[in-house]
Amino acid sequence: MTNKGRPAVFFDRDGVLNHDAGYVHSPEAFVWTDEAVAAVRHVNDAGWLAIVVTNQSGIARGYYGPEEVGRLHRWMQDELRRHGAHIDAYYYCPHHVDGLKAELAVECSCRKPQPGMLLAAMDDWGVDGERSLLIGDKASDLEAARRAGIRGYLYKGGSLLRLVREAMAAAGPPRHTTTCSNTSSTP
Ligand SMILES: [Mg+2]
Repeated sequence: MTNKGRPAVFFDRDGVLNHDAGYVHSPEAFVWTDEAVAAVRHVNDAGWLAIVVTNQSGIARGYYGPEEVGRLHRWMQDELRRHGAHIDAYYYCPHHVDGLKAELAVECSCRKPQPGMLLAAMDDWGVDGERSLLIGDKASDLEAARRAGIRGYLYKGGSLLRLVREAMAAAGPPRHTTTCSNTSSTP
């Protein structure tokens, strides 16, 4: 894959953007983590893509449906917009091998630590993989990042903005592919 586009910050959702209360699927149960909204805005303002990649096995388990997930993500987007921020895309995996629904009880390639969601997003958005990174709260998130060939950072609480800022800074400046040969000098 050639990556000529923008870099992305991939956010795990539960435990990174919101406190993981277990199978969160409604605004009432959704509590943003410390400076999560500011972290997303920082990504937006830098011109990077902000993309959510979240395992939602609650769908396979029959706890809730894709409608609730979509509704929650629209609510998140409204909340972010009110603060001048946005998520560019939301990817979720509805599968789990122990699921009640046969069509969802499968060994998929998207449930983290599999990299399927990351690879799909990178393809869909032409992401610059070299500078991109993932923020997760579990080893499975970091493993998905590793398999997708991008850097992963573990969020352990505290300011999400600080972690995102440091991680993006560590990515370094963009590589310029155009060379400037206009080096006329005065004698
Ligand atoms: Mg998580």
